Amino acid sequence: MNDQGPIPIRSVGIIGAGQMGLGIAQVSLQAGLSVRLYDVSNERVCEGIEKVRHSLSRKVGEDRRLEGTFSGSDSIGDLGNCDLVVEAATENENIKKNIFEGLCPILKPEAILTTNTSSLSITRLAKSTDRPDRFMGIHFMNPVPVMKLVELVRGMATSQQTYEAAKSFAAQLGKQVTTSEDSPAFIVNRIILPMINEAIFALYEGVGSIEAIDTGVRLGANHPMGPLQLADFIGLDTCLAIMRVLHEGLADPKYRPCPLLVRYVEAGWLGRKAGRGFYDYRGK
Ligand code: NAD
Repeated sequence: MNDQGPIPIRSVGIIGAGQMGLGIAQVSLQAGLSVRLYDVSNERVCEGIEKVRHSLSRKVGEDRRLEGTFSGSDSIGDLGNCDLVVEAATENENIKKNIFEGLCPILKPEAILTTNTSSLSITRLAKSTDRPDRFMGIHFMNPVPVMKLVELVRGMATSQQTYEAAKSFAAQLGKQVTTSEDSPAFIVNRIILPMINEAIFALYEGVGSIEAIDTGVRLGANHPMGPLQLADFIGLDTCLAIMRVLHEGLADPKYRPCPLLVRYVEAGWLGRKAGRGFYDYRGK
């Protein structure tokens, strides 16, 4: 980083062509940034690029200035020239650490490295990079193009310049920010995930049906969607990973993941992205 303040962000590297990575790619392109997408298979990357292009083509009528350049591949080396990288791969600490170990040697020294993790320790992840001062959490909300917030999380070593650069990146994308300390699941998921887990316990214990629980919370608490529908939307594997981080990180039994959530994940019923979760999305 130079003495004149944060480096301008023109090109963004995105790791993970899943629900979140594609959303982050879309809003970055809409902000006129150049985007490079990386995932483990070329097929996944190509499908992802198609989805984002399709989604953007429906918006082009609204804003013709969009579209920075968009490319992608299954080679992490292609991210070497990016000014900022957002890691949005599966919520698993070892996967993320391995990614950083492969990425850091090819990333330019001044580049900022960020993670979209929903729950993992930023300080611990930073330790597996060569740049803990230029590393932090930028936690986008799902669906990224719709949700206004990003949660910023600094690790122990994150510099003020990195934090300022992340804030201005969020502003470039038209997002508002809130800042959380580096604590398991940060602010938003610390509050939302126990509610989802409780809804799954209510289902598990037969307090109500899926529809009864979701209708109750949606209309009774004025939430835009019920907690089981929200769990499907987030991905049940991600929900379980977050509950485990809360349970282990805070060592409080109140965060015990519901056994029914574990069972759904073991069945591969991961929610909307898998076609089946608490609801059935096949054929839609
Ligand atoms: P997803 O399952 O839709 O996508 C994950 C992607 O990561 C897949 O395309 C997978 O192929 C890829 N991947 C796995 N291992 C990889 C590797 N080694 N290198 C490159 N890519 C790899 O998951 P998602 O919902 O997009 O979540 C991604 C991240 O964003 C997670 O850390 C999650 O906690 C976080 N997040 C999710 C939500 C949500 O609501 N789903 C919200 C905020 C943050």
